[in-house]
Amino acid sequence: MLLHLSTWQEVEAYLQTSEGIIVPIGSTEQHGPTGLIGTDAICAEAIARGVGEATQAMVAPTINVGMALHHTAFPGSISLRPSTMIQVVRDYISCLAKAGFTKFYFINGHGGNIATLKAAFSETYAYLEELQLSYAHKVQCQLANWFTCNSVLKLAKELYGEQEGSHATPSEVAVTQYIYPQAIKQAQLSPQVGTGHQIYGARDFRQRYPDGRMGSNPALATPEHGKQFYELAVKELSNGYLEFLNAESAELARR
Ligand SMILES: [Zn+2]
Repeated sequence: MLLHLSTWQEVEAYLQTSEGIIVPIGSTEQHGPTGLIGTDAICAEAIARGVGEATQAMVAPTINVGMALHHTAFPGSISLRPSTMIQVVRDYISCLAKAGFTKFYFINGHGGNIATLKAAFSETYAYLEELQLSYAHKVQCQLANWFTCNSVLKLAKELYGEQEGSHATPSEVAVTQYIYPQAIKQAQLSPQVGTGHQIYGARDFRQRYPDGRMGSNPALATPEHGKQFYELAVKELSNGYLEFLNAESAELARR
């Protein structure tokens, strides 16, 4: 069920059956010469919708812009500052929490979001308590990165080995090729690729990683691989979501 294609009455009815919601979060940032700028949001959204279908869960609108400041020396990249993103996430969760949602499962497509998302969760818990929301103590957020699913990591290693790299990876490019075959890009990739540098500011990043890739060879990506990654991630994260939803009852049963 997609929140933005539902009416408020349908959301109200859903809340009678579940307090869980899936929130896809990505980024809008360069992904090398063949990767789409929307890659991280596209992957997170598609996988979140797959998980929503598999588990009958509500899926919230995708947060398309994340924390990607170090990519902003490449045209087309858009980033929130961490402090802005914390407020965006806090407001997003707290509106849904006031409606009755208590279990927030974030399906994330971008490594650069992780630190800020965790900070945002802490800010949100404190904020909901300050609001004196009677069930503030029941609100829980969980972060699930599709690209660190065990099954995804295993397949990426089998298919690409070291050439998976860490940004503009063939695995994420493959997922976008599966979702948007009409937007598959071709470009000559240099055999040299930046790798292993620390991340500082945007200009420095572009000097160290001149074409935007980080140790990756996205020319290995195919839409067929993308379908495999998609299916593995949907399966693993569907289990993850259901475990998260049922954690409380399992915990109580163990006592
Ligand atoms: Zn990415």
